[in-house]
Amino acid sequence: TKSAFGLVGLGVMGKSLARNFAANGVALSLYNRFVKGSEEQVAEKCIAEYPELQSAKGFEDLKTFAASLEQPRKIFLMIKAGEETDTFIEELVPYLNAGDVLIDGGNSYYGDTKRRIEFLARKGIYFIGTGVSGGEQGALKGPSIMPSGDPDAYALVEKYLTLIAAKDKQGESCCTYIGKDGSGHFVKMIHNGIEYAEMQLIAEVYAYLRYAIKIEPTEIAALFTEWNSGELNSYLLGITAALLIKKEGDAWLIDLILDKAGNKGTGNWATIAASELGQPATLITSALFARYVSTIKEHILVNTQPASVYHFNTAALSEIKDAYMLARIVNHQQGFMLIHEASQKYGWDLNFAEIARIWTNGCIIRSAFMEELIPALKKDSNIFTHPAILKQLKDLKPALKAFAVNALQYDLSVPSHLAALDYLNVLSGNYATANIIQAQRDFFGAHTYQKIGDSSGKYYHTEW
Ligand code: NDP
Repeated sequence: TKSAFGLVGLGVMGKSLARNFAANGVALSLYNRFVKGSEEQVAEKCIAEYPELQSAKGFEDLKTFAASLEQPRKIFLMIKAGEETDTFIEELVPYLNAGDVLIDGGNSYYGDTKRRIEFLARKGIYFIGTGVSGGEQGALKGPSIMPSGDPDAYALVEKYLTLIAAKDKQGESCCTYIGKDGSGHFVKMIHNGIEYAEMQLIAEVYAYLRYAIKIEPTEIAALFTEWNSGELNSYLLGITAALLIKKEGDAWLIDLILDKAGNKGTGNWATIAASELGQPATLITSALFARYVSTIKEHILVNTQPASVYHFNTAALSEIKDAYMLARIVNHQQGFMLIHEASQKYGWDLNFAEIARIWTNGCIIRSAFMEELIPALKKDSNIFTHPAILKQLKDLKPALKAFAVNALQYDLSVPSHLAALDYLNVLSGNYATANIIQAQRDFFGAHTYQKIGDSSGKYYHTEW
């Protein structure tokens, strides 16, 4: 008998996805390449290792792998993104027929996905590009899945993808058809951008508690755990509480980790997309650049003395909590505005509330706030227009300001909180200093400017 579903690439993610599919009763064929000098029979070994994969078939030959699948074939690729994916598709295509569906679950660039959809469509082969979030555990127990491409292609694989995805609070699958082209990979890319900023915000709060207020990691973990039981609940806050209590010998493991942050490029892509779309996703950008700055630390020579006397009381803790909540609200607003802009520009017609819904479980940025965003996004893609959120902006702003000022007194680096505060300052109607910019542009380049309260739409030029 033929297998219902094929999976290529048995690395960290592929192996877990295979176990997830098999645990859900899907008959699988598994393929991992064999290159000279590398491990042999990866698929067979993987099958032998996990009882749930017992009835799966393993291959390292593409022809027999393709022949083992029911037609139209449904093949999920979980391999290295980039050129490797193109090369692999070229190797696989000779063994495919019109009507077969390839699904790319790697972190591919959304522009590449559109190109691959068009390339394969010329051969009658369907291509679905899908974001998959949740890391290894998500892949195993249920990730958040963001597929895009031809709706007819999605219809052929929907049942399999919705089956293995996480379930939301209502028991609905955290997999939904996102839109055409590479919109699924775009949305996953912005998910990762939001993730960068969410991680950075927690890191900044930690730095403040640890180095300004001088609270021990176990106590910070306890505080985070307490926050995590309420409106600030999130997967990332939970894991940070857990990692803070880890010790190696007498030392906190966190103190032994070199503080230079790595990245695999999706934050960079998200920043490029924000820039290309003219969207001020300043939290994503600040979080990405914070990682870059951390890697050049030793070159920074300026050292001033932090404020030595600063008064703290327990009210400071609730202030920090409020500041962090507000920065998170700004991060999500910017992220969804970025997705909104892409949807407009590329004609994707995205459903923002559905995107928030599939991000309420399985993925790295799942949180109580994401749940709150579903009804808000149903009304408006700009969550700042939602009355409850607007009220929070007003109520929490003094706390964010106090947090920022205090952090600077201590020479702490809190770029993402500062970005949030600055964004709110400008949106609150304070001068964005853009009038000076416009006058300068007109001065040296005759770029013209518009006047306040002038409804004629006229552009003015002055001989300065
Ligand atoms: P791994 O490095 O663990 O696995 C990579 C897989 O790709 C291996 O099976 C590898 O085979 C295969 N591969 C590499 N190069 C080629 C090639 N030229 N031809 C065919 N197969 C190849 O990575 P992950 O499992 O972490 O990631 C896989 C994909 O999933 C990536 O695109 C990644 O960006 C994405 N992703 C990862 C997440 C994570 O949390 N790790 C989350 C979401 C997406 P071999 O063993 O022979 O080298």
